[in-house]
Amino acid sequence: MRSKDVREANVVVVGAGNAAMCAAFAARDAGASVLVLERAPEAECGGNSAFTGGATRFAFSNVDEVREVLDLTEEEIANTDFGTYTEEDFLEDMGRVTQYRCDPDLTELFVRNSRQTLAWMKSKGVRFEAMWARQSQKVDGRVKFYAGLICATWGAGQGLIDSLHKLARQNGIPVLYEAAATGLIRENGAVRGVVAEARGRTLEVRAGAVVLACGGFESNAEMRARYLGPSWDLAKVRGTRFNMGDGIRMALAAGAMPFGHWSGAHAVGWDLNAPRFGEREIGDLFQKHSYPFGIMVNANGERFVDEGADFRNYTYAKYGLEILQQPGMFAWQIFDAKVNHLLRDEYRIRKITKVEAPTLEALMAKLEGVNAERCLRTIAEYNLAVRQDIPFNAVILDGRGTTGLAIPKSNWANVLDTPPFQAYAITCGITFTFGGVRISTRAAVQSVAGRDVPGLYAAGEMVGGLFYFNYPSGTGLVSGAVFGRIAGTEAARHARAKAAMAVK
Ligand SMILES: Cc1cc2nc3c(=O)[nH]c(=O)nc-3n(C[C@H](O)[C@H](O)[C@H](O)COP(=O)(O)OP(=O)(O)OC[C@H]3O[C@@H](n4cnc5c(N)ncnc54)[C@H](O)[C@@H]3O)c2cc1C
Repeated sequence: MRSKDVREANVVVVGAGNAAMCAAFAARDAGASVLVLERAPEAECGGNSAFTGGATRFAFSNVDEVREVLDLTEEEIANTDFGTYTEEDFLEDMGRVTQYRCDPDLTELFVRNSRQTLAWMKSKGVRFEAMWARQSQKVDGRVKFYAGLICATWGAGQGLIDSLHKLARQNGIPVLYEAAATGLIRENGAVRGVVAEARGRTLEVRAGAVVLACGGFESNAEMRARYLGPSWDLAKVRGTRFNMGDGIRMALAAGAMPFGHWSGAHAVGWDLNAPRFGEREIGDLFQKHSYPFGIMVNANGERFVDEGADFRNYTYAKYGLEILQQPGMFAWQIFDAKVNHLLRDEYRIRKITKVEAPTLEALMAKLEGVNAERCLRTIAEYNLAVRQDIPFNAVILDGRGTTGLAIPKSNWANVLDTPPFQAYAITCGITFTFGGVRISTRAAVQSVAGRDVPGLYAAGEMVGGLFYFNYPSGTGLVSGAVFGRIAGTEAARHARAKAAMAVK
C-alpha cells in the first residue's frame, strides 16, 4: 500500500505490536474500517512483542480452563501437573510485586479477562503452547509447572507477530509500514485523526477514533536519562529501537494525565556484550535468568542481591536496576557443575560472554574487572553459610538458604564446589518503561481533568498504573491484549457514534 492512497478510516491504530494488532482485530470485529500505522519497516515490525519469549500468564482453576487456551493431548494432560493459578493468585502476585501500588480497577480488569482474551486470540488463529522447557521440571516421573506461568505463544514473540500480521492480511486490515505517527489531529478537544511521516511524506489520516499502542520510551536514551535517572541512558535495550515514547508524548500534548511509575522500568540481567538494541534472531536469549541456582558478584567481588529471594519470575524484572547500580554496571553469575542441567536455554547460545575453569582460583583469573581475592572470600563465606540440612528442590521455594550472611540467599543455595565452574558476564538490559498515560476501564485516555479525551484510546506498554518497581513474568503481552481488545472495541463504538451524529 502506498501512503498517498490513505486518507481516512473509522479507527486508526498507531503501532503494530501485540496490543495494537489486538486493537485492530477488535475494531474490525465491531464493524469499523481500520488502518494500522507502523513506524518500523515490515522486516522489523511488531515492536517489543516480536522479541519476547511469548510467555503469557493467565488465570485458571482446572485443566479444562487451561484447554481453553492451550491445545493439549490426553497424554500430556495425564503426565502433567499444571497446578492451578486462580484470578486471586494472579491479583495477589500483581499486588505483591508492585508493592500494592498497581491500579486496582485496571489490574482486576486484565486479570479477570486474561484467559478469555487469550481464548479470543486463539479463535482468531493465534496459537499457544505449554512452556515445557522454561517453566516445568520432571518430579517423580510427572511434569510439574511452577510459579503460575504455563503458556507461551507458538514460535515465541516472532511467531506471535508473524501470525498476527498474517491474520491481519487475511482479514483485510491494512498496515502501513514506515509510517511514524508524529501528532494527533484535534478539533474542539476531540481527537479526529493522526499526522504521520510516511517514507518522506507527511500524511494526514482522519478518523473517528485513534488507538495509541506504540510502546513506552525504553528505546529513547534521552527520555530514559530524564525519567529513570542517571546511567539509564547507558543501559542496553533488549528489544525494538522504535519505541521512542511518541505515543505518550502525543497523548500528553492532547491533555492526557500522566500515570504510573515514571521513574521505573522492567530491566534484567543481559549479556554484557549484547548490542545496543535487541537482535531479532536472538530474541530474548541475551537474558541470563538462572541466577537463583548460583550467585552473582560485582566488580568488588561481592554479592549484592538475594539470588534466591523468590522464583526468578518474580525477581528478574527488578534485578536489572540492581545490576545498573553496581560499580561499572556489570556483574558475573557463577555456577558449578551440579546445576548445569538446570541452566535455561539462553545459557547455550553461541553469542555469550562465558568463562569456565577447573578451579575457583582459575575462574577468578578469568572474571574480568572483578576483585579476585575478595570474590574468593565471598564464595568461601557463602559456602560455609549454606543450609545443607535442607534438601534442594528447584520447583518449590525450598527454604534451602544461607545463615549469617549480610546478604542472604533464601532458597536454592548450593555449595559451589563441583568443577568445572562457569561464569557469565551481564549488564542491565531494559525491557520497557512503567510510566504512561491514565486510561479508564474502557481504555479511554483520561485527561488531567479526569475525563475522557474524546476519540483517544490507549493500550500496551504506554498505559501507566499497572507496574511499579517490579513485574510478574508473562504479564506484558496479556495486559496488552486485554486492553488492546477493549480499546479497539471502544474506539469503533466511538467512531460509529460520531458518524451517526454527523449524519443527523
Ligand atoms: C526481550 C524481551 C522479552 C520479553 N518477553 C516477554 C514475555 O515473554 N512475555 C510478556 O508478556 N512480555 C514480554 N516482554 C514485554 C513485552 O514485549 C511487552 O510488554 C509487550 O510486547 C508490549 O506490547 P505493545 O504492543 O505495547 O508494544 P510493542 O510490541 O513494543 O509495539 C509497539 C509498536 O509501536 C510502534 N511504534 C512506535 N512508535 C511509533 C510511531 N510514532 N508511529 C507508529 N508506530 C510506532 C513500534 O514499531 C511497534 O510496532 C518482553 C520484552 C522484551 C524486549
